[in-house]
Amino acid sequence: MGYSYDRNNIFAKILRGEIPNETVLETEHSLAFEDVNPQAPVHVLVIPKGAYVSLDHFTQDASDAEIVDYNRTIGEVCKLTGVQPSLGGSGFRAIANTGADGVQEVPHLHVHIIGGRVLGRMLNKA
Ligand code: AMP
Repeated sequence: MGYSYDRNNIFAKILRGEIPNETVLETEHSLAFEDVNPQAPVHVLVIPKGAYVSLDHFTQDASDAEIVDYNRTIGEVCKLTGVQPSLGGSGFRAIANTGADGVQEVPHLHVHIIGGRVLGRMLNKA
């Protein structure tokens, strides 16, 4: 079963300029913007501009240029938002919710960069 990309998902609309966003950083292949419903003082979403459903889709099918650009953008967002420990920040969590078990709401790859407060344990014990 291959990947099926929904061109009407909300992040595709943001990339087409049909919905506004609060851009943190834009590069050739990536866009970083503020999450509309932040879970912490820092909550930025980083997405590739290409039509990739998820992290597994992206890491298997994206070009080397896209993959490098995307990872560099994540690093740059850590700097820009002040969460990077080597620059005096207190750290962060990077999350890529994927599929049904990952409770992914928007079917376009996004990594959440979340920080600015102590985030607690990674997962609640079920
Ligand atoms: P996920 O559950 O990982 O798919 O997370 C989707 C995220 O997208 C949530 O944190 C939402 O708050 C966020 N979100 C949904 N619509 C928008 C939007 N128009 N602009 C910014 N963030 C959004």
